[in-house]
Amino acid sequence: MNKQTSRLLIHEEEKTPIVRKANFQKLAFDNYKLTILSDGFIPRHPIYPDFAPETSKEVLEQLLLLNGRSIETIDLEINTVLIETENRKILLDVGLGKSNENPDIGWLVDSLSLSGIKPDEITDIIISHLHPDHIGGLYGLNNRINYPNARIHLSELECTFWRNAQLSDFTESGIYHMDREGLKQIIQMIPSMLEDFKHQIEYIDFTKGLFGFLSFLPTPGHTPGMFSTKICSDHQSVTYIADLAHHELIQFEHPEWSFSGDHNPKLAAETRINFFHDFSNTQELVIGSHLPWPGIGRINSSEGENRFDWNPYGPIS
Ligand SMILES: [Zn+2]
Repeated sequence: MNKQTSRLLIHEEEKTPIVRKANFQKLAFDNYKLTILSDGFIPRHPIYPDFAPETSKEVLEQLLLLNGRSIETIDLEINTVLIETENRKILLDVGLGKSNENPDIGWLVDSLSLSGIKPDEITDIIISHLHPDHIGGLYGLNNRINYPNARIHLSELECTFWRNAQLSDFTESGIYHMDREGLKQIIQMIPSMLEDFKHQIEYIDFTKGLFGFLSFLPTPGHTPGMFSTKICSDHQSVTYIADLAHHELIQFEHPEWSFSGDHNPKLAAETRINFFHDFSNTQELVIGSHLPWPGIGRINSSEGENRFDWNPYGPIS
């Protein structure tokens, strides 16, 4: 069986249609136009200990198998959000960006075009945290700048962390043990990106929010300065939770289990559990960067302490 066939079979089993190229979903929302855009997906394998190093490989595989999932690969979607108002076009995160080596990623600009928007029309970009799969798309191929007219809104705490980051700051993180060379490259790349875009960057004032309808909730752990963005209209709200969770089965059934990219896995789990309780109480819509396309739904509490279910949202036009 070739790789492509096996991948297709995996997704039939999972019943999670994977986004392979440009794609967008409009969301009915009263005051603004909201669109979820795909940048593609990142295949992750082996699954253990990339996910859930707090448990054993056998326990993780049993959970996946019991739910009809592949134990070979997890494809992480890269979902981003576009908000259109009368005079602004705002992107929440910009994906990983185009790569000559990997055709599965870097589709955001194409997804924007498909939805009728040119990259130079983007007025503002809000970056949840500075991992490459959320900021890499600021560049096109050959380091072309994708969004020349956008102000880039960042957390000062997050920028300060990455500007001073040392390998020894990551000893708690799975990636430190699994891919130290990759981690070194990320630690070098982020400060140089911040330098490249310094004339477009503005720090967010977390006490004020932005534009009168966006507010920001610190959700630390995955990175020190990661935050969620709450979009409020007159009658609706939806919160972009970025990387609060990386898998809609593993980390909802076991929110205490971490992901290798978490800088501080214990804090990431604590934050996830606290916010999952809040979101399950309020039943507000949330959008996750890496949850199954288009990544929007509600979080329900389930049987047992700190157990949750992902409830994908249906009525999208
Ligand atoms: Zn991510």
